[in-house]
Amino acid sequence: MAHYLALDGCEVTVLDQGPVGMGCSFGNGGWIVPKTTAPLPAPGIVGYTLKSLGRPASPVYLKPQLDPGFVQWLWGFWRAGGRSTFEAGRNALVQLGGESVELFHQLHERNPFAIRSGESLRVFRDATGAAKAADELSFLAALSIKADYSVLDGAEARSAEPILSGKVASALLMRGDLLVDPKSVCDALGREILANGGTIREHEQAVAFQVDGQRVTAVATQQDVYAADHVVIAAGSWSAFLTRLLGVRLPLQAGKGYSFTVGLEPRPTRVIDIADAKTGIAPHEDSTRVVGTMELSGLNSRIDRRRIRAMVLAASPYVVNWPAGDLDQSITDEWVGLRPMLPSGLPVIDQLAPYGNVFVSTGHAMMGVSLGLASGLELARYLTSGSQPASLKPFSLQHLGRSARFSKPGLTQSWTAELRDSLTGAQLR
Ligand SMILES: Cc1cc2nc3c(=O)[nH]c(=O)nc-3n(C[C@H](O)[C@H](O)[C@H](O)COP(=O)(O)OP(=O)(O)OC[C@H]3O[C@@H](n4cnc5c(N)ncnc54)[C@H](O)[C@@H]3O)c2cc1C
Repeated sequence: MAHYLALDGCEVTVLDQGPVGMGCSFGNGGWIVPKTTAPLPAPGIVGYTLKSLGRPASPVYLKPQLDPGFVQWLWGFWRAGGRSTFEAGRNALVQLGGESVELFHQLHERNPFAIRSGESLRVFRDATGAAKAADELSFLAALSIKADYSVLDGAEARSAEPILSGKVASALLMRGDLLVDPKSVCDALGREILANGGTIREHEQAVAFQVDGQRVTAVATQQDVYAADHVVIAAGSWSAFLTRLLGVRLPLQAGKGYSFTVGLEPRPTRVIDIADAKTGIAPHEDSTRVVGTMELSGLNSRIDRRRIRAMVLAASPYVVNWPAGDLDQSITDEWVGLRPMLPSGLPVIDQLAPYGNVFVSTGHAMMGVSLGLASGLELARYLTSGSQPASLKPFSLQHLGRSARFSKPGLTQSWTAELRDSLTGAQLR
């Protein structure tokens, strides 16, 4: 949202504990598929996910943890998996993403990045899989959202994508999606912020807030203190640390996902979602990026080779010519990203009550690229107008019920004061 605020003439400073765009937004799939976004807790998926407890080779893996926050998260996740809750959440996500593709085109016109327009293909080993998936899209008409898609049989799918093997028996071809290089999008957003007078401070971790009543007046990093009229917390899987400093508990877990590149010949020409294998492949630079898995194992970036092996085992039967031999020789650019996951499967994009001038945007799970620009634009409108856009109502803090609650904000103010004293020559910016 920082670039929308900067475009609107606001004076914006972005603080990032690392280089900008190196969090979960770096090596993800870059699929912009707003018409097929949905909350993870769906009927059928919740049971499947809970059964994966303690099975590291499962595409969705919950590592057993004694942390009460994790147990509470599981409880919330289980409760969110009912049909009507799922459908309401899915409709809200798809409506939020209604302008996503157009917003990416607009950004690209102002600040070019790597983008491919066109189609995505969802493939199934079952001959009826694609028709069933198409039926599930009938809700779009009720929302007055046009979707352009075709159901293909296996031969038609292979003719569209010669990389596909005989295992593919049907496919759903969606038109009007996008594929971007997510890092190049982050770079474009950075250029846009700078070009509109904003400032980016990299390697500055926000560690404390100065609070005056129900307003935050400054943000402290290890290096400096920044005075602020408004503060937006959009720190991905780390956001809950920052909201907790202000006394607001967010039930956030990190959903670790993996990506790597592999030299496939022929290469895919578009996004291919291998639904049954819970992995996906897409062209990336001069290679193929494979993405997948969801692992709830705490906030860590450890790479577990068993999970990469499981992705290869799951995806390789669906393509021809997967390179034989050792993993180490056939794949490169192994990467993990931590998806910010709330138990509802929906993001929170809201004012951080009770603070009148603090906002939060996190929990975008598997759709932070698809919905990133739309979320940012709507939140920028909220911040500058003071009135909550209707599109953001389903993503309010209240949707999390009692699991997101405010209590006394600990030592925030005095911590900030101590920090300021310890900053040699720090200027209040
Ligand atoms: C394998 C994989 C594939 C995916 N594929 C897709 C896809 O195809 N399409 C899609 O829409 N989504 C996809 N996603 C999801 C998407 O990547 C995430 O939803 C999105 O990147 C989340 O963005 P974010 O800005 O909330 O978090 P991040 O990108 O993680 O950014 C958070 C930032 O906050 C900074 N930060 C944290 N704490 C502090 C602090 N205290 N002070 C200052 N800075 C701080 C971090 O350094 C980081 O830069 C995928 C995810 C994975 C893992």
